[in-house]
Amino acid sequence: MTKIIIIDGLPVEVTKKRIKRINMRVKAPDGKVVISAPYLASDKHIIEFVRSKMDWIDRTVAKVRTRSAAQAQAVDPAEKEARRADLKRRIGERLPVIEQRTGLRCSGWTVRDMHTRWGSCNTRTHHVNFSLMLAARSDTELDYVILHELVHTVVPNHGPDFYALMDRFMPGWKMIRRGMKN
Ligand SMILES: [Zn+2]
Repeated sequence: MTKIIIIDGLPVEVTKKRIKRINMRVKAPDGKVVISAPYLASDKHIIEFVRSKMDWIDRTVAKVRTRSAAQAQAVDPAEKEARRADLKRRIGERLPVIEQRTGLRCSGWTVRDMHTRWGSCNTRTHHVNFSLMLAARSDTELDYVILHELVHTVVPNHGPDFYALMDRFMPGWKMIRRGMKN
């Protein structure tokens, strides 16, 4: 069981485990403070423990965040452009094939550096965006995202009509989607 305790404004994630002593870590990239505590440790005891380590926490959170930010920036821009070019080539090959097969059409498409979604579709203009994250994904997964966004050109939501079209054009799509959640 895991819960968040706020200690002097600091959110701390506490998980009770079968262990003898409290131990504490600061996780990358955001510097989240995570504690494992014995089942019998009271909140009061955990709060005292955290308060006694506040200096260490402050220093470590700052260090972890700085290091993570440096690593995030270290993605070589040339490497990123190569990935983008390769993804554009793959979409350029697959999109017309899927449009042809389904009769669904987008008005245009863009590869964007999106981190929270695989794709998006402007349901008014029918312009489709694909995430650069797809560069690391298989052809089957790319096909799924292309189809998903093309279906949005005629069904804006994820209701029964959306499911029906996905089932018709790609019967195994739910398995592919499940695999992409990791
Ligand atoms: Zn969708």
